[in-house]
Amino acid sequence: MQFRGSCHCGRVIFFIQTADLTADVYRCNCSLCVKKSIIMKPVDRNFFSLIDGAEELLCYQWNKYIAEHYFCKNCGVYTHHRRRRDPNQISVNYACLDQMISLSQDQIGLIDGAAHD
Ligand SMILES: [Zn+2]
Repeated sequence: MQFRGSCHCGRVIFFIQTADLTADVYRCNCSLCVKKSIIMKPVDRNFFSLIDGAEELLCYQWNKYIAEHYFCKNCGVYTHHRRRRDPNQISVNYACLDQMISLSQDQIGLIDGAAHD
């Protein structure tokens, strides 16, 4: 199934394909994710399509400069990033997805990104 996501101002629009929108969602305890306070949904990069707003995106990198953290330069919302632990995967900001539903805490995994800070 295909799900649409966008930043707050709507200039950045993407789609992901996944069988289950809530599968594999996670938080990360690294210093960046803690400050962003985000829940992420990972997909294979072939299942991520940036539809609009490529020119609106800025990329933030830090530490080992492997992961690419993208956010809208107009509204500031983080939309997605290319993952350090698997550069073939894109994680999107779960809250950017149009059809996102509230999750219970036990549905949200935790990744120990702090070990790589
Ligand atoms: Zn925006």
